[in-house]
Amino acid sequence: MAPRSRQRRHKKPPSSVAPMVVTPSTVVTPVPLTLSKPDPSIDALGFFSLENNVPGLSQLILQKLSMKSYEEYKLVLDGGASVSGFGFRCPQEMFQKMEDTFRFCAHCRALPSGLSDSKVLRQCKRCRNVYYCGPECQRSDWPAHRKVCQELRLVAVDRLMEWLLVTGAFVLPSGPWPCLAETVQSWDTWFSMRHLQLDATLDAVLGSHAMTTLWASVGRPRPDPDVLQGSLKRLLTDALSRPLTLGLGLRALGINVGKIGGSTVHVVGASHVETFLTRPEDYDELGYMFPGHLGLRVIMVGIDVSAGFTQNPSPPILEPGTVQLSGHRGLYHDFWEEEVETGRIAHPDLVVTFHPGFHASPDLMEAWLPTLLLLRDYEIPTLITVYSHQELAASLQILVDLDTNITAYGANPFASLKPEQAYSNPNKQPVYCNAYYIIFLGSSCQLDRRQLEEKVDGGV
Ligand SMILES: [Zn+2]
Ligand SMILES: [Zn+2]
Repeated sequence: MAPRSRQRRHKKPPSSVAPMVVTPSTVVTPVPLTLSKPDPSIDALGFFSLENNVPGLSQLILQKLSMKSYEEYKLVLDGGASVSGFGFRCPQEMFQKMEDTFRFCAHCRALPSGLSDSKVLRQCKRCRNVYYCGPECQRSDWPAHRKVCQELRLVAVDRLMEWLLVTGAFVLPSGPWPCLAETVQSWDTWFSMRHLQLDATLDAVLGSHAMTTLWASVGRPRPDPDVLQGSLKRLLTDALSRPLTLGLGLRALGINVGKIGGSTVHVVGASHVETFLTRPEDYDELGYMFPGHLGLRVIMVGIDVSAGFTQNPSPPILEPGTVQLSGHRGLYHDFWEEEVETGRIAHPDLVVTFHPGFHASPDLMEAWLPTLLLLRDYEIPTLITVYSHQELAASLQILVDLDTNITAYGANPFASLKPEQAYSNPNKQPVYCNAYYIIFLGSSCQLDRRQLEEKVDGGV
């Protein structure tokens, strides 16, 4: 049977919609600077939507990055210009400019340039995250802000600490798991399995020169060691959430990783988030999850895959025990036709898409539809992740309407534990990457939609 997606294959989404790019409704964190991998919504749509909440903010960000335009900024993410292109002279300047991009009144949205001479923006002393133009705004904002102040305090520490990942001062623990892999089913068991190694790693980072430089550069006192350790652990879950979520999918679907030549996972709709500054060893943990596997091939496919990523060819036969990362720039249904159907690239044993966001707007839904139908009609085991319970419910509804056969969904035991702030709307409840997952396989008209809704509403 010809997949229904074929009928739509010429209908490519307009490029301005940034198809296949993470555009969640909730998270807009456009300021990775040189510090870290970009957070979600780095695409133009997310970037310019900042203006709706805080007029002038996107220009302020570009100015602080010494960039003339969003295009120039994106060129860096695409791998077309060096990261050092941001041109900071020293860590102090970098951290200062990064902090400046958060400097707008959380209540009236005034930017520093819009304030009268006598006024300055002052931080909320509790979270050191949001700013106010004066006591009136702070007071009026408190009923809303108090609900998120504590969580935003963590965000403010994490966004500084991410620098340690980029400088290499914080290296994630690695090496085969010292226990039966099946016993590691969540972060709790992961942390207890890695605890000896992790304690040593965390001590080393806390005592590192980079940590000293960081807190000498940011203009705020160094927090207590337990606060810093908590932050490092959150960053670690954030970095490992993606590889371990792939493992969750392989496990949940009972996919055989003992296939000669290797098993293949396509990460569909991959963008800078998955590919900018990503190193091959970042996915080693996925391999350790399946001791004895005969090779795991992870192929990132999306129109915003960073340029450097596309150059690694994926060998047809993998060595047992190796995890191989590669990328392909383009739309998935084109990739399917040109690479998978022709046999040039391995057929996927699993497809994963992180935060596709198709629930968020009709444009994104239109962009995703050919891919969703292809995955359904070819009966490709598929796992998608979403940021929140609300997005889970909306996404399930859409997948039910598309007659996909949903085999599992729920809270992801390997969700990132790092809160994500809605950048230009800081009082919005923070969300977590890969918080929930949905797995579907093929098509089904059997599902009772009402039952599904009830299950979701009742919590998962
Ligand atoms: Zn104000
Ligand atoms: Zn606060």
